[in-house]
Amino acid sequence: MALTFDDGPNEPFTSALADVLAERDVRATFFQVGMAAARAPDVTRRLVADGHVIGNHSLTHTFSTCLRTSAIADEITQTQQILGDITGAAPSLYRPPWLLRTPGLFPVLDRHGLRAVSGQFCHPLEVMQPAAARIARTAVARSSPGQILIFHDGFDGRGGFRGRTVEAVRVVIDALRADGYDFATVDELLGIPAGAPRA
Ligand SMILES: [Zn+2]
Repeated sequence: MALTFDDGPNEPFTSALADVLAERDVRATFFQVGMAAARAPDVTRRLVADGHVIGNHSLTHTFSTCLRTSAIADEITQTQQILGDITGAAPSLYRPPWLLRTPGLFPVLDRHGLRAVSGQFCHPLEVMQPAAARIARTAVARSSPGQILIFHDGFDGRGGFRGRTVEAVRVVIDALRADGYDFATVDELLGIPAGAPRA
């Protein structure tokens, strides 16, 4: 299975999550918002140093932008640049905000060598931050071999409390391990490169 985290970086939650993943020796995939990464490049760099994979999740995470091909193309291009500058490799994975796939999106992704990645939301109300045990129970129930599970360490690329998600992830990893699951990054799961090194 692949654990994925959207909308960050968002401190202190992204670093708290990185600590949990490091303690349990799990590598994950973070779909980051370009503007948020530009504000906290050290957090993104630490994730890469820990062996996690960084994907593109737009520049501003704005609903209206996702509906206009020229605007989203611009956001994707700028975010490839920002994440490439920070990590040294342009991402090969893109997760559309709200998983919105418009017909104009795919030629843009092709130009950047990006693969669109969706997945299964861990809990329908994660954004409201219900008790960690509830998030964890639903996330485990929704898990299956080869599944890509979606959590949020950020909130639309802005700040927001994500403490329950961090707590839940600890429980989810232990429960899934007990069920015999291993964890892979999304590129490993799909059998594609994690990113193209910058010249
Ligand atoms: Zn998002």
